[in-house]
Amino acid sequence: MLVTVSRYTFPYEAQIAWSKLDAAGIPATIGDEHTINMDWLYSNALGGVRIQVPGQFEQAARELLATDLEPELIEQQGYDAISCPTCGSTETEHYQFGKRLAFLVFLGIDFPLYPVREGIRCRQCGAKHPQEPEDQSNFTDSAD
Ligand SMILES: [Zn+2]
Repeated sequence: MLVTVSRYTFPYEAQIAWSKLDAAGIPATIGDEHTINMDWLYSNALGGVRIQVPGQFEQAARELLATDLEPELIEQQGYDAISCPTCGSTETEHYQFGKRLAFLVFLGIDFPLYPVREGIRCRQCGAKHPQEPEDQSNFTDSAD
């Protein structure tokens, strides 16, 4: 019997979650993905894309998925680690990378500025540092 352990608005989120489970040896399946790819408007109506696992893996899956997916999202999207201007920590994350941007990308809209860093949030000290798009030249050369 399959148990739904998590729901995601977008298929790519579910796929990242699935990858985490798969890497941990948990035989997860993604439900409703095809339907949502056909028409994302049904995503909310269906409750999003479901991650399902066999009942005996439910606890392990929930614990694994309780961790923040954002680092994986950032890694997948190719973000660089940006040092916190406040404390110097590299434990930062892009704090406006969220549903709105994902929505645009998911719709396949040509979005030449993507990935746009609208700001970073420091995991160490909690400081938020908004970054205007024109300031990104400070960071684009660090990718190689
Ligand atoms: Zn900091």
